Amino acid sequence: MSFKPANNIQDLQYFGEFGGVNPSISDSSTYTFLSAKTMFDTFEGNADGCYLYSRHSSPSNLYLGEALAAMEGTETANVTASGMGAITPVLLQLCQSGDHIVSSRTIYGGTYAFLKNFIPRMNIKTSFVDITNPKAVEAAINKNTKVIYCESVSNPLLEVADIPALAKIAKKHNLKLIIDNTFSPLSISPAILGADVVIHSLTKFINGSSDTVGGVVCGTQEFINDLRNVNNGACMLLGATMDSLRAASVLKNLRTLHIRMKQHSKNALFLAEKFEADGLKTVYPGLKSHPSHELFKSMMHPDYGFGGMLTIDVGSLDKANELMELMQNNNLGYLAVSLGFYKTLFSAPGTSTSSEIPEDEQKEMGLSDGLIRFSIGLDDDIERTYKMMRQCMEQLNILTA
Ligand SMILES: *Cc1c(COP(=O)(O)O)cnc(C)c1O
Repeated sequence: MSFKPANNIQDLQYFGEFGGVNPSISDSSTYTFLSAKTMFDTFEGNADGCYLYSRHSSPSNLYLGEALAAMEGTETANVTASGMGAITPVLLQLCQSGDHIVSSRTIYGGTYAFLKNFIPRMNIKTSFVDITNPKAVEAAINKNTKVIYCESVSNPLLEVADIPALAKIAKKHNLKLIIDNTFSPLSISPAILGADVVIHSLTKFINGSSDTVGGVVCGTQEFINDLRNVNNGACMLLGATMDSLRAASVLKNLRTLHIRMKQHSKNALFLAEKFEADGLKTVYPGLKSHPSHELFKSMMHPDYGFGGMLTIDVGSLDKANELMELMQNNNLGYLAVSLGFYKTLFSAPGTSTSSEIPEDEQKEMGLSDGLIRFSIGLDDDIERTYKMMRQCMEQLNILTA
């Protein structure tokens, strides 16, 4: 594939106001106009390059948006206060009362709760389907469907969406394909594969330091303009705007994303192979045993690997909790939700990030009690980490020595 997401970020050239190598931070909520006419034109959306009010846009947010659009290969992007602050306005912009969404059933718990419990209040219904089965996706489409929604690599089961196949279905039925690419930045470029809108929670790998929440919507200029429209734009009117100071700090972290992703992926693959060889039920898209291993390979930029997320199943919630506590006590990582940190993070999704999903549905989608989700860190010596993790597992009789 000739599209190079990390080069596209690197090739952007920004100068600060005084020739600084970082763009200046715009520490203002509002902007002066030299003439009253320009202010009117800006409200009408006809004064390119003029800033109005920072809930609409700000120079710092536009810099970060431009870099993320370059990474995803979309015309432009809009950054938001959180990942949910990107997902919810996109769905509300595209769907009205009476409309219908086809969504993967394995998605981030907050997105699931929004689709299942919140958006029905606006008379918008969702069918949850097995996203790895394009036939099931197509069968769920009805005359009111507006959107197909999924994650390129799903939370927490690491199912992989066949983005080109879904894009074909979306085109055929005149729907928008929205992909949450939070788990696979740089590795997968959904827009290049046919997605209409690409969303990230910047909170995770992209920012990478677990010090803020943030989000982005990448798409066409027309769609991003719609989201920012002062009269009916969901981003503008719902108000989940990122702060300029934070946009500047996320942009600085974005520049090392390619180096971090390579290390996350390298470490995760190493551990996944070891865990599997040890007889643990291990799910990682980089393993040949993963049902969508070949599909992932066909969509990926190989330099960045299969990502930093893996799961193991240790049989029961009690065992999972014991293991996570022991690993934390041995400083192998933190028992915490979220992902993309320099330290390994682990949690039991059934009782944490996916607890919004009712128990019987968890069972049906294969989310078992003993599942531990790992976000593998940037450890320099992953072999040492593995040996220490193995000792913890032996101590708890999860692995027999
Ligand atoms: C964390 C996460 C979100 C939500 O992002 P926030 O920044 O927490 O609002 C959405 N999708 C995925 C896949 C996530 O992991």
